[in-house]
Amino acid sequence: MKSLINEYDEITAGCAPKRLHVITFGCQMNEYDSQKMAQMLMGRYCLTPYPEEADLIIVNTCSIREKAEHKLYSLLGRLRKFKDSKPDMKIAVAGCVAQQLGGRLIEKMPCVDLVIGPQGLYRLPELLERIETDGGVVATELDDQFKIPYIEAPLPRKGDVRGFVTIMQGCDNFCTYCIVPYVRGRETSRPSRHILKEIGFLVDQGVKDVTLLGQNVNSYGKGLVDEVDFPGLLERIDHAFPDIRLRFTTSHPKDLSDKLIDCFGRLKTLCEHLHLPVQSGSDKILKRMNRHYTRQEYLEKVDRLRKACPTITITTDLIVGFPGEEDQDFKDTLSLLETVRFDQAFAFKYSERPGTAATRFKDKVQEEVKSQRLKTLLELQNQIGFEQYRKMENKVCKVLVETFDKGKLTARTRGNHVVNLEGDADLVGRLINVYIERACHHSLVGRIVH
Ligand code: SF4
Repeated sequence: MKSLINEYDEITAGCAPKRLHVITFGCQMNEYDSQKMAQMLMGRYCLTPYPEEADLIIVNTCSIREKAEHKLYSLLGRLRKFKDSKPDMKIAVAGCVAQQLGGRLIEKMPCVDLVIGPQGLYRLPELLERIETDGGVVATELDDQFKIPYIEAPLPRKGDVRGFVTIMQGCDNFCTYCIVPYVRGRETSRPSRHILKEIGFLVDQGVKDVTLLGQNVNSYGKGLVDEVDFPGLLERIDHAFPDIRLRFTTSHPKDLSDKLIDCFGRLKTLCEHLHLPVQSGSDKILKRMNRHYTRQEYLEKVDRLRKACPTITITTDLIVGFPGEEDQDFKDTLSLLETVRFDQAFAFKYSERPGTAATRFKDKVQEEVKSQRLKTLLELQNQIGFEQYRKMENKVCKVLVETFDKGKLTARTRGNHVVNLEGDADLVGRLINVYIERACHHSLVGRIVH
């Protein structure tokens, strides 16, 4: 859980009579949406880090993790106490859990004034006005023809070197374990001119490393008329902003085309890192997950990527203990890790999301078995990841310095390795050469090469 802290206050203070506190759960896309909501209210609200003094609290929720609903209720219970002593305070709940619960949320928690789904957030100012006349407002309709409207880009936080731009939202894939298509709606892409304008805005603010966001960026452009596909979008960005570092997430393996693979190593701005969630190494489980690729197809794409760009860093997501996963299926996942040798993997035990197709599978895996498999998998991946990171030792690489704190700098390689080193604050935002002294499990330690 994060709160948008008062780095924006300098920009917004003085012109806004009211105070806004934003709490965000979940991924970078939710962070982006939170910033966008704050941006839409700029001029009327300035941000406060203190929920008790806010006139409006927005809780932006995520249903990817377990017990999201339960966590939301317990947070709202705490926020209600602030509202009791400040009756004019308004509480809005946005994001995936809001979409799932709809009006039930206000019934159960009358302290909530507004429930907004992922498509409704673009109408936030108007919805806040409706609260004043109508009381509790629910805006969770999902329109299959929804188009993301252009609003000014979210402000990068003061001194931010990295910036994020949503290029599409929603998903049409319906993986059987995933709630996203039900709560974020059908895929919809933003016109490329909006994306370019937004990147231009971030670059003007000093951002040097831009990540394009979407549930499945590889299928960008679906439904847009006279537009480019995803590789075409990357080319346009590369051409318009030749000095940035460009990244994207998340990619679905089935939509990773040869044309996109060819962009790595060819486009100067595109960094040598791809997050490519595989989820399982077993064909039987991949089929049950409705992933639309086989283990072999995944491995072939990894091979092609490495041929096109030998230095590419590949990271992944994995689920263990999916219904029907037997010992052999799990062994297939372990052997896939050994074959691909991911630089990093984010692994989770399968847990049910109400309303998803996988809840109907009867052959659940016992909790102890899931825990044991997760432990085994993490041990193996930690060892592989460390060996991958050790390949960086004794090399000089160019890093972009992102932050400074108490004499320590944090920087990032093009391959997305975090490098810790000592240096001065004025290096933030600069590209410097660093000698990598040693690898840790998920980061590197380096020193500046003069
Ligand atoms: S592609 Fe990703 S977002 Fe879409 S359903 Fe599958 S896991 Fe969920």
